[in-house]
Amino acid sequence: MDALRTAFDQHLAQTSPHPLALDIVHAEGCWLTARDGRRYLDLVAGLAVNNTGHRHPAVVQAIKDQCDRYLHVIPYGEFIQEPQVRFAERLAGLLPAGLDAVYFVNSGTEGIEGALKLAKRVTGRTRLIGCRKSYHGSTHGSLSLTDNEAKKYRNRPLLPDTRHIRFNEPADLDLIDAQTAAVVVEPIQGDAGVRVPAPGWLQALRSRCTEVGALLVFDEVQTGFGRTGKLFALEHTGVVPDILVLGKALGGGLPMGAFVASRERMALLTHDPVLGHITTFGGHPLPCTAGLVALEVLLKDGLVTNARKMGGRFRQQLVHPAIREVRGEGLMLAVDLGDPERVQRVVNGCLDEGVLGFWFLSCPQAFRIAPPLSITGDEVDQACRTILRQLDRVQG
Ligand code: PLP
Repeated sequence: MDALRTAFDQHLAQTSPHPLALDIVHAEGCWLTARDGRRYLDLVAGLAVNNTGHRHPAVVQAIKDQCDRYLHVIPYGEFIQEPQVRFAERLAGLLPAGLDAVYFVNSGTEGIEGALKLAKRVTGRTRLIGCRKSYHGSTHGSLSLTDNEAKKYRNRPLLPDTRHIRFNEPADLDLIDAQTAAVVVEPIQGDAGVRVPAPGWLQALRSRCTEVGALLVFDEVQTGFGRTGKLFALEHTGVVPDILVLGKALGGGLPMGAFVASRERMALLTHDPVLGHITTFGGHPLPCTAGLVALEVLLKDGLVTNARKMGGRFRQQLVHPAIREVRGEGLMLAVDLGDPERVQRVVNGCLDEGVLGFWFLSCPQAFRIAPPLSITGDEVDQACRTILRQLDRVQG
């Protein structure tokens, strides 16, 4: 075992007994290069982060330019920092009316925490509702709304007064009542194995929240920035949440999250108490700069349309007796084999052939396809040939 691998095992905190432990020395577009020279076609994009591809030249240049100006200067909220202001202004311009004030944090889960605090503050209520099979992050508030019991039981007590409703189940909307501060939902569930809302369900959820005065929070940490073939997944239904949570691709490959609400509601965090939510590094100039340029690249290069087209191209080719279902929108896809052991064998077999796929935490019978949105037709075809070969192998 080489020295780097030994140090990785001994000194870096681990999250699983069997990490993939690929030793990547270079990444560009849809391709990762390992130290041993092997190249991998990336169908994971850092888990829905690198939407414009790895190291897009415009993003890299903007980061370098900002490094030459300034890095961290003060905790969030005190100084006027142009990269923050320009990015918030651009995001607000692209979002529906009422989502016009952006609070930048450092990760998706922090965005959820901020959204929960704001919802409690706006409504004066404490009850929080999530959905079955949801995933919202690993900190205590996010975990309270996440529905994966295996990830929760060692951490109790979590937040009090939290409940879960079934995604896509109209009957459960009655559980949302006048004690409810917020309902948090992924407009397309990710970790559940990519579950798309049934026609009318999100609209009915919106109506119920409005009726009882609960805030509707959309977690677009994974679905945002073109992943589903729309810039934001809320565009699929036209349902506008009260609070929108962003992360992953938001920072153009650098760590960042955000929660977005109306200016009036967000202003509640400025008094009683002052500094009602604070973060040292939130809105750091590097992810703000990278995120803004990545967003412009996404729009200028037509990557949202490409996500739709390439998603269709995957679906057309991924037809095989071992596949039960391909679910999703755009390039947020789950290939369901109905069998966790087969999924392991296919993902490992693909890796051996230089195609990187990945699992879901809460849906082991499916694997995900979520490449950079810049993926080309030839790259899709190459990935599909490999996947189909591996499916033949497990089908025997
Ligand atoms: N929400 C959703 C839908 C996610 O998929 C994730 C991460 O996978 C999160 C929140 C948490 O984001 P982070 O890992 O940046 O804290």
